[in-house]
Amino acid sequence: MQNAVNASTTGSSGPIVVAGAGYAGLHVAMRLTAKLRNHPNVELTLVNRHDYHQVLTELPRVAGGTRSADAVRIPLQDTLATRVRFVQTEITGFDLPGRRLLTGAGPIGWGRLVLALGSRPNDFAIPGLAERAISLYSATDAERVWAAANHALDEAAAATDPEKQRRLATVVVGGGGATGVELAGELAEILPEAASAHGLAPDRPAVQLVEAGPTILAGSSQQLIDKATKILADLGVQVHTNATIAAATEEGFRLRDGQLVEGGVFVWAGGLKAPELVADSGLPTGHNGRVKVDQYLRALDHPEIYVAGDLASVVDPRTGHVLPSLAQVALEEGETVARNLDAELKGRPLEAFTFHNKGFVVSVGTRRGVADIAGITTGGHVAHLLKDAIEWEYRESVKHLRGWDPISQ
Ligand SMILES: Cc1cc2nc3c(=O)[nH]c(=O)nc-3n(C[C@H](O)[C@H](O)[C@H](O)COP(=O)(O)OP(=O)(O)OC[C@H]3O[C@@H](n4cnc5c(N)ncnc54)[C@H](O)[C@@H]3O)c2cc1C
Repeated sequence: MQNAVNASTTGSSGPIVVAGAGYAGLHVAMRLTAKLRNHPNVELTLVNRHDYHQVLTELPRVAGGTRSADAVRIPLQDTLATRVRFVQTEITGFDLPGRRLLTGAGPIGWGRLVLALGSRPNDFAIPGLAERAISLYSATDAERVWAAANHALDEAAAATDPEKQRRLATVVVGGGGATGVELAGELAEILPEAASAHGLAPDRPAVQLVEAGPTILAGSSQQLIDKATKILADLGVQVHTNATIAAATEEGFRLRDGQLVEGGVFVWAGGLKAPELVADSGLPTGHNGRVKVDQYLRALDHPEIYVAGDLASVVDPRTGHVLPSLAQVALEEGETVARNLDAELKGRPLEAFTFHNKGFVVSVGTRRGVADIAGITTGGHVAHLLKDAIEWEYRESVKHLRGWDPISQ
């Protein structure tokens, strides 16, 4: 079979350890549970710092106060079969020759390791950014954004000078990718009403979106970009493109051209990188510290380690580009990894990973969005409904996979 390697050449004994319970890791663990039905002796362990899975795609709603943080934290005990041993701990390093994960709960030995540790915000060493801006990469971060926005509205309400009120009630979002656009849209729609509740005129709050590149939603079709730009303008979001942040200061984001973007709350959604501990691991890494993998999603030169999700640097052979950091990519990679681990156990050939793009959907505000699906671009309410449907379907899929528990059935 083309694109396949026989598992018998790689060996497959010992426990399977999945590091990270995000989109990729949780799905590897859940899908593998059912496949291990005929291998009762194979130990399957999932390691994660929290005892919940975070639905990161819904964070902009938490940051805009329309969803509670707990609603995007799915308890792992509700999703994992009893077959899976769960260890809640911080992974601190790797002992690759000894095949051990180093953790706060002690070393965890593996026969096969699945690395699915996701991303960390990348501040590109912009001076002051880490201190001045809130990143958006967890439910707690999103809560902080909403709390900061409310605090800023309180401060603005206490001020008397309208200009000062406007400055304090302005949220500045750095990064015009999907996360930045979703957050800016959500806040622009919510803040006027929130302002009234704080005793502030509804026209005082403002949202500014600062993007270093020539366009928001880089890499998307021009039609999609135009539609998103129009909705943002409609919502009153001021978009700055070709606006590279040189420093984050007490006054605001200082751009490379000297301009100052002032505000009361600063959020950073401008870039991602691999977690630092991977950089020191000895694994082969590429762009942004992501782990280079072969076509079966195994770390190069480490056939005993699979990598999935944001952490994997997977080149799409059709475009020559590394696949983007997206939940749909992480889920598909998780499926391939689960199938390949199963194939190893059964002595079957491994399967090469192929990404099947289902399209791109971004919400812009609480009622509208933009979508590129099968070459068709839509904007407006339908796109927002699509986004809702994708989120609903994801939660249903998690419930459905839980139903696969061979022990409880
Ligand atoms: C605000 C936001 C909005 C997004 N919106 C979309 C969207 O609309 N559509 C889309 O397709 N994608 C979206 N994404 C991207 C998507 O969420 C990621 O691509 C996806 O989460 C990657 O999955 P993953 O499993 O690789 O990592 P994650 O889901 O990040 O999971 C990694 C897991 O590893 C754990 N972990 C990490 N380090 C350690 C450690 N040292 N010790 C123990 N545990 C550790 C983490 O706690 C986490 O549970 C969004 C991302 C963000 C932040």
